[in-house]
Amino acid sequence: MGELVPYHELLDSGRLDWLWDGRLHTMYGYTSHDLATFARVLARPCPDCGAGQAERCRTTSGRELMALDEQHLSRRLRR
Ligand SMILES: [Zn+2]
Repeated sequence: MGELVPYHELLDSGRLDWLWDGRLHTMYGYTSHDLATFARVLARPCPDCGAGQAERCRTTSGRELMALDEQHLSRRLRR
């Protein structure tokens, strides 16, 4: 695993801007608090499926997981 990009740099780079494009609010009713949590989760690589920073988790068949609650548990629980 390479160097991790610090959270604030990930935000500044715009790689997570899609979180706030309104789609997640429309689909799931996410609040700004939910989106901030989602951003924190996505800032970590996933030890389960290998998703990198700012990438959504994927199923073994390669389907991208859209919802915060679908991201792998091991990624969501890490601090
Ligand atoms: Zn994952």
